[in-house]
Amino acid sequence: MEGIIGSEKMIKNRGRLFALPLTALLFLFCGFREQTLQAGENFGMVLHGGAGAIRKGSMTGELESRYRAKLTQALQNGYDILKKGGSSLDAVTGALVILEDSPLFNAGKGAVFTNTGSNELDASIMEGRTLQAGAVAGVKTVKNPILLARKVMESSPHVLLSGDGADSFARDQGLEIVDPGYFYTEKRWKDLQKARARETGNDSEAPLEKEKKHGTVGAAALDRKGNLAAGTSTGGMTNKRFGRIGDSPLIGAGTYADNDTCAISATGHGEYFIRAVVAHDISALMQYKGLSLQEAARKVILDKLTAMGGTGGIVAIDKDGNVAMPFNTEGMYRGWVDRKGKITVKIYRKD
Ligand code: ASP
Repeated sequence: MEGIIGSEKMIKNRGRLFALPLTALLFLFCGFREQTLQAGENFGMVLHGGAGAIRKGSMTGELESRYRAKLTQALQNGYDILKKGGSSLDAVTGALVILEDSPLFNAGKGAVFTNTGSNELDASIMEGRTLQAGAVAGVKTVKNPILLARKVMESSPHVLLSGDGADSFARDQGLEIVDPGYFYTEKRWKDLQKARARETGNDSEAPLEKEKKHGTVGAAALDRKGNLAAGTSTGGMTNKRFGRIGDSPLIGAGTYADNDTCAISATGHGEYFIRAVVAHDISALMQYKGLSLQEAARKVILDKLTAMGGTGGIVAIDKDGNVAMPFNTEGMYRGWVDRKGKITVKIYRKD
């Protein structure tokens, strides 16, 4: 099964337990739990760089290698933090800053354009231990919106700041401010022109573009103390109406983390993810119905979201280190790193 970090070992241990008397069993069980959390055997991180019509052969080998290298670099950074005993929050923000700074992804540098030609960035972060969360929507001058979301969580009494107020809070907090022109990339500008042409019916490629490409970035991590965290950052969707806010900065839709269940980051057509309350729904199925992460994630993405007509996927890690990455598009940039530091990166459905 794709990406199991911690469950094989637990299954083996369970098998041996049946032969033991009750006290020894209790001791072993408690000991095992202690060991799992305190010795920090199970830790890891999973991330995505967006989902959509990503077909094999639709990009050059060179571009594909650049995607794989950047995702690997972000995972390695997260792993180094976790291995040293750093927090899942630090691993998530460390990895996402790398992806935000890369023009390959639709977050930070490389964000898509709104219908008026501006870049409006959304991000959120959540900590599973405290259920604290922070988010920003529609920021225009903040180099790394994920760092601003974290500041909202840690240095304000609020959860979600938007627009000018969020940009102003970033300045007050001493975050790096950039000219809006920093976010310009030629590729995203051309994407906007294509989207505009499609709207007016002057694009011969229109029938081929039924499924839009997304490119949001997100990560979910479990640290050695057993704490989960998740974060998501995006420019939204190409040609979105200015002022539109997607699922990425909405806690429960695009991002969720709870130490009792899992940490999740979503990517896809935000309007559907908001209405399906995707991230919290997965956590709730685990908490209230006892589903495994894999079962809950597949149910929400492959059954519920798909039936509604929504496209995209999620990456998630649970409190035991199991990961899940279901998506209903042709591809999703995704990868994970296990406790031994083994990094796996995938792009296509069959990769
Ligand atoms: N979910 C993002 C949004 O709707 C887009 C994406 O994930 O690519 O804003």
